[in-house]
Amino acid sequence: MQTLESSKNTISTILNPDLEPDFPAHPEGKMDPEKKDAGGFASVAARIHFPDISTAIASRKAVDVQSALDRAASRLPLDFADYCALISPAADAFLERMAQQAREVTRQRFGNVIQIFAPLYLSNECNSHCTYCGFSVGNSIRRKTLTMEELDQEANELHSQGIRHVLLLTGEDYRATPVEYLEQSALEIRDRFPSISIEVYPLKQGDYERLRLAGVDGLAVYQETYDPVRYREVHLQGMKKRMEFRLNCPDRGGKAGLRKIAIGALLGLSDPASEVYMLGLHGRYLMHQFWQTQLSVSLPRLREATGVSEIPEVKDREFVRYLLALRLFLPDAVITLSTRESPAFRDRMANLCVTQMSAGSKTDPGGYRVSDEQNRAAEQFSIDDERSIADIRKRLQELGKDPIFLDWASVLK
Ligand code: SF4
Repeated sequence: MQTLESSKNTISTILNPDLEPDFPAHPEGKMDPEKKDAGGFASVAARIHFPDISTAIASRKAVDVQSALDRAASRLPLDFADYCALISPAADAFLERMAQQAREVTRQRFGNVIQIFAPLYLSNECNSHCTYCGFSVGNSIRRKTLTMEELDQEANELHSQGIRHVLLLTGEDYRATPVEYLEQSALEIRDRFPSISIEVYPLKQGDYERLRLAGVDGLAVYQETYDPVRYREVHLQGMKKRMEFRLNCPDRGGKAGLRKIAIGALLGLSDPASEVYMLGLHGRYLMHQFWQTQLSVSLPRLREATGVSEIPEVKDREFVRYLLALRLFLPDAVITLSTRESPAFRDRMANLCVTQMSAGSKTDPGGYRVSDEQNRAAEQFSIDDERSIADIRKRLQELGKDPIFLDWASVLK
């Protein structure tokens, strides 16, 4: 049991955390036997006692929220005590002011630009058992890994709809989708997509370097939950059980020279406010370590999927507070909102703080072109915004936004 004194110490660590890792993350994810620690962000996260985060957040009062907003209005960087105040329930009374300031910061940093991309599922084969995911190994679903010919068809379909930034996804099956397959996939489509990101199982630094040479420029790796106890409860089988290996994945991607790194937490697995705090901590850490890399942050809300029921609700108003707090705390970070959210909600948030959206998403391999309705492979989760890419583009333009399909292209590819 924690004493009052040790609890005060951990709360002050949360309000003023040390962002320096004990030592750099191992390029292959191995732990240092001397230090019994993985280094990198895993060692920064290990100094935070997760159950105390909610206490630190609850300690923030209206006066702290006011002070955080005054600092943001004066364009001063916010510290972690400010961030906790903006996440806290005390900020609910200031939501309108937060929205106005977040919109202003977004305009200053990003203009009216909304980056559009599309996910392209390469495979739904997976050897891991995650209790919240439709691709889990225990689920009896139709499994599929795209052949290069099928990938070509999917890529052509997305390209014909204007997509130039694509996110390649797989489950965690190293035999069905080895690094060689990922490399071949990137090489196959790089002529049509100047920007290719991956959201696959965690790799070693050398593998990221290899994929970068094949045309991959972005890495998305969502931690799902930063709560170590919950992490063990929801990851029951497979490589995903290795929490530190995953926590240090963005470190390895950054060291491999990837241009874009996306992190996220799945809201609904543990205390949402504490997850948002940890995401901000991770974001600040990555910006500090890899200043040349563009950071994206995302807070997907848990959705229905095969085998997933009893979804805990994170209400819209609370969710909006978290997104606005992220914008004020990480002014330069891209904030991504996926098609898990409704069209009306996405439209509203595009006007406040979101700067990147997926569009026209299918979450099953072959979903764009290859499969007919009867033969479709299983989806990872259900989506809410089913508008076409053209409709989303049109709506964003009506809202005065400037949807773009490509933010950058290498002349050396
Ligand atoms: S979340 Fe990823 S690793 Fe876990 S079951 Fe789904 S696809 Fe597999």
